[in-house]
Amino acid sequence: MGLCCSETKEKSFGMLTHWKQFKRMLNRELTQLSEMSRSGNQVSEFISNTFLDKQNELELPCPMAKTREWKKRPHHQTQLEGQGTLTQISGVRKLSHSTGLQGSSISRFGVKTDQEDLLSKDLENINKWGLNIFRVAEHSHNRPLTCTMYTIFQERDLMNTFKIPADTFVTFMMTLEAHYHSDVEYHNSLHAADVAQSTHILLSTPALDAVFTDLEILAAVFAAAIHDVDHPGVSNQFLINTNSELALMYNDESVLENHHLAVGFKLLQEDNCDIFQNLTKKERQSLRRMVIDMVLATDMSKHMSLLADLKTMVETKKVTSSGVLLLDNYTDKIQVMRNMVHCADLSNPTKSLDLYRQWTDRIMNEFSHQGDREREKGMEISPMCDKHTASVEKSQVGFIDYIVHPLWETWADLVHPDAQDILDTLEDNRNWYQSMIPQRPSPPFCTGDGEGDREGGHRFQFELTLDDEQDGEMGVEEGERGTEEGWSPVDQGGV
Ligand code: AMP
Ligand code: MG
Ligand code: ZN
Repeated sequence: MGLCCSETKEKSFGMLTHWKQFKRMLNRELTQLSEMSRSGNQVSEFISNTFLDKQNELELPCPMAKTREWKKRPHHQTQLEGQGTLTQISGVRKLSHSTGLQGSSISRFGVKTDQEDLLSKDLENINKWGLNIFRVAEHSHNRPLTCTMYTIFQERDLMNTFKIPADTFVTFMMTLEAHYHSDVEYHNSLHAADVAQSTHILLSTPALDAVFTDLEILAAVFAAAIHDVDHPGVSNQFLINTNSELALMYNDESVLENHHLAVGFKLLQEDNCDIFQNLTKKERQSLRRMVIDMVLATDMSKHMSLLADLKTMVETKKVTSSGVLLLDNYTDKIQVMRNMVHCADLSNPTKSLDLYRQWTDRIMNEFSHQGDREREKGMEISPMCDKHTASVEKSQVGFIDYIVHPLWETWADLVHPDAQDILDTLEDNRNWYQSMIPQRPSPPFCTGDGEGDREGGHRFQFELTLDDEQDGEMGVEEGERGTEEGWSPVDQGGV
């Protein structure tokens, strides 16, 4: 049953209002954070550059300013990186036979390993948030994506349902895994395996019991598996700023995400890789449409609008008598699915501290490599990418407070009470990082820029209440924000 006209209008108006409120509120908080200290400024810049869509905010410089800019611009920025012509889909490689099965039988988890017992023990946790994907990688000769996906597909009986030949499945997964860069610290196949397994768990949340069809489940897990393939370890902005071939190919719009999709689908055409060969044409079309939607939604610059839509859904949510969410149209279903993969992509801080810290080390290493490349090229170093100044602990607290917690809190509202444990772990982890922020001596002995002051001690939670006023009619002064706007930054008092 579709929405009637007035419902649709009300819904889209609500979404627009939420989105604008989110942006305005976050902008204010980030401005305050940036004014507190140098590292606060860096965290604020990182969040603003990564999670806010700047597409419509380009300022047109006056002609004079433009001339000045042009003269100042270093030579390298006017040239294309990696000159060659545009290849069809860059990054797709012919691989050695090591990804094929060469007639051998398929092992228990789809990968060759001499530590099958240990791998088996690790994968016993396939249906748990606590699975240790690092150990899975260790015990599978660094093929975490292949064996995790193999186990998920077995668990969900997807190979039988969609008549996927096991050898085709393993060949495709090995090929996909080989197209993740093992020398990239964070965006490698371990992260893909983690997001796929996290998505697998979220799909099974009791509040969504029997909501999704097998095809939708297949699409969500597949989207998670391909969502960062051939990631070069640098951000969209870096690719745009260096006039990379990829940015040219996709006209600066969701450059990486478009590329991940193109590579992911292209690989299905390799020898014995078409895992969707026995789907009907209609099923293939439908799956492709959903996968494209979900992977494009992993572009972090879409985060605010995704979250705003999710908020609206939570406020208008309907549940059946058995407590399951009622999602009776494609728009609502795909909205939940894209938020689910987005949550899985931003789930590091919700895992046990031991796992979370390993992810943090990895992303900070990747960021600092990007920073090194920017320094070498004489470019401005992106926020959090300067290994000499980045504050790991503060950035994690900011990342949780402004991005991860608001998202997961909204997801938890949607599937209440299923995600309570996840939310508790997130809060514990946030407090741990907060407690690890190095403290400088306080004035009058300190003459620094306020580093170590209390800025990280306050926690702002964005709360949107039902009686929020309409955008443009608020007339709220700076400093009066909060409940008047329907938003309450709740001071949790820090730790
Ligand atoms: P993706 O690049 O698709 O994996 O999207 C996740 C993005 O969120 C990363 O590129 C980072 O910008 C950010 N992110 C994810 N996890 C962390 C983390 N632990 N610390 C800081 N930023 C993170
Ligand atoms: Mg990505
Ligand atoms: Zn990712």
